[in-house]
Amino acid sequence: MSLISIIVPCYNEEAVLDEFYKVASETLADLEADKEFVFVDDGSKDKTYEILKRLKAEHNDVHYVSFSRNFGKEAAIFAGLRNCNGDAAVVIDADLQHPPRVIYDMYELWKQGYEVIEGIKSNRGREGIFHKMFAGSFYKMISGMMGIDMNNSSDFKFLDRKVIDVLSQLKERNTFFRALSFWTGFNTNTVSYEVQDRAAGSTKWSFKSLVKYALNNLTSFTFAPLYWIITIGVLFFLLGIGLAIDAIVDYFNGNTVAGYPTLIVLFVIATACILLSVGIIGVYIAKIYDEIKQRPQYIIRDKK
Ligand code: UDP
Ligand code: MG
Repeated sequence: MSLISIIVPCYNEEAVLDEFYKVASETLADLEADKEFVFVDDGSKDKTYEILKRLKAEHNDVHYVSFSRNFGKEAAIFAGLRNCNGDAAVVIDADLQHPPRVIYDMYELWKQGYEVIEGIKSNRGREGIFHKMFAGSFYKMISGMMGIDMNNSSDFKFLDRKVIDVLSQLKERNTFFRALSFWTGFNTNTVSYEVQDRAAGSTKWSFKSLVKYALNNLTSFTFAPLYWIITIGVLFFLLGIGLAIDAIVDYFNGNTVAGYPTLIVLFVIATACILLSVGIIGVYIAKIYDEIKQRPQYIIRDKK
């Protein structure tokens, strides 16, 4: 019988963990495979770690990995992938927003030979309007640049051992799980699911962390922003030539009017573009620095 690992990143999830384990094991009782749960405590500040130790003592299909501090969901997912034993693994949120029942459909597709089975949101659940707009435009941008539809994509994914091995061996630290699983190029299929309301507890995303996440993933996956800078630069160069010709013509016609407004507008726009460009380049340089330090993506303090 094959073994399916259920990887659950957890950050301050004391309110839902027991329920998650209960609902998930009950729902998956009829799955024709062995199961193991791999909970990854992402440096929670609440009782998550204690609850995991207790679950581990009570059930022999539970394993956990606990970080020394919060390293983020990406790190938690990758730690789960590196510490699971399954012939396949599914990554699922601890808050029951990803209905465990969907794993049956994913499992069927895996049996048919698909290696990456993606959960696609048929709705976006209850998210703030701001979150919705922000996530929507971010994914549209990424989708356009990468040529894959990321809009309703999520971290709810079922992966074959081959994919797990490829992802586990990646040396980069600034990972973007959602896009990387496509990037591997394996045989992909999708299953759609309805996002549920969070069972308990609250979302771990603040506006600041969302912006950071978006910027991080954008720059780790594409050089497009650098090309935007070049395009803007070229446009300004052309505009500059136009203006120079205009000024020379004016000079020879004898009406050298004071072009003060033009100067101000150009100055403001040009300064903004320069600052933006330097900022974007700075992000890439920071990334290089970050990767070059070769620090681990996470630090494990306990694992069982
Ligand atoms: N999570 C994590 N580390 C973090 C933030 C979140 O492991 O730094 C986990 C969290 O415990 C949950 C999943 O990632 O299992 C999704 O988080 P959340 O429900 O807060 O996000 P949302 O569903 O609102 O996008
Ligand atoms: Mg959630």
